Amino acid sequence: MDVASIGVIGAGQMGNGIAHVMALAGYEVRLTDVSGDALSAARGKIEANMNRQVSREKITEADRDGALKRIIPVKGLADLGSTDIVIEAATEREMIKQAIFEDILPHLKPDTILTSNTSSISITRLASRTDRPERFMGFHFMNPVPVMQLVELIRGIATDEPTFRTCEAVVAKLGKTSASAEDFPAFIVNRILMPMINEAIYTLYEGVGSVRSIDTSMKLGANHPMGPLELADFIGLDTCLAIMNVLHDGLADTKYRPCPLLTKYVEAGWLGRKTQRGFYDYRGDEPIPTR
Ligand code: NAD
Repeated sequence: MDVASIGVIGAGQMGNGIAHVMALAGYEVRLTDVSGDALSAARGKIEANMNRQVSREKITEADRDGALKRIIPVKGLADLGSTDIVIEAATEREMIKQAIFEDILPHLKPDTILTSNTSSISITRLASRTDRPERFMGFHFMNPVPVMQLVELIRGIATDEPTFRTCEAVVAKLGKTSASAEDFPAFIVNRILMPMINEAIYTLYEGVGSVRSIDTSMKLGANHPMGPLELADFIGLDTCLAIMNVLHDGLADTKYRPCPLLTKYVEAGWLGRKTQRGFYDYRGDEPIPTR
């Protein structure tokens, strides 16, 4: 299938990154969010991120200007109906995603491919609530989207081969690399990454180390570019908790029990960088550990 246009639902940190890379690759992008503020902020963020790429000579000013023109912010899901592939990148809650897919169905072309950027939720279950489970799959970008090379492609039980191949070709056009994952809780990257982050939070909770000593240990002792707590703040602690809950519920193994300290941070609304506070406080010039 020839793909010319992409619809992106959710203009948060992932949605704006997806719109950014798709527009640079030449696709026309329609971007929407339930929050008008998030939608207008996304435009500014995309422009600032592209300006950074221009100053680093990764793209030209003409690339940036052309790409920005190709991103059309729209008010509602109906305005995405004419696009070839829809990528849902809204908040990691199954009920929210299901409601989005139900609402958008009547507006879609019969051959539009529906995808979700979910980090962990069952693709098969999301697909089963739509009229096109064979044209539904997981399209999982990594954060920050313009920088990270990998896209995980997840087939639901019914996903057909043309749908998979079409999404694979889009990833190649972005200049990124795809890895195919089966549809089990949290797929590959988060199945491995999130229990490590959760264990780092347990290490903090049990007093084995401070925020700084845990992050320093993993950076210098395991050669990770970012400490696990710094990374958790970057991903968003609400997203981390949601993924641990999906692993815990979906695999029914106590080794995936979310750390109570993670739950406490989320209950406090300390969700990491996006709310300026998480395992670090980002309100000053330098991040300061909160424990
Ligand atoms: P975010 O909180 O930054 O953004 C979510 C956006 O969705 C918000 O702007 C919110 O207003 C919007 N939204 C909520 N309900 C909506 C609705 N009904 N219709 C339209 N928009 C709606 O979250 P994020 O980090 O961008 O995560 C989005 C998705 O991407 C999640 O499924 C998450 O698991 C996945 N993901 C996140 C990361 C990460 O590192 N943060 C990485 C890969 C995938």
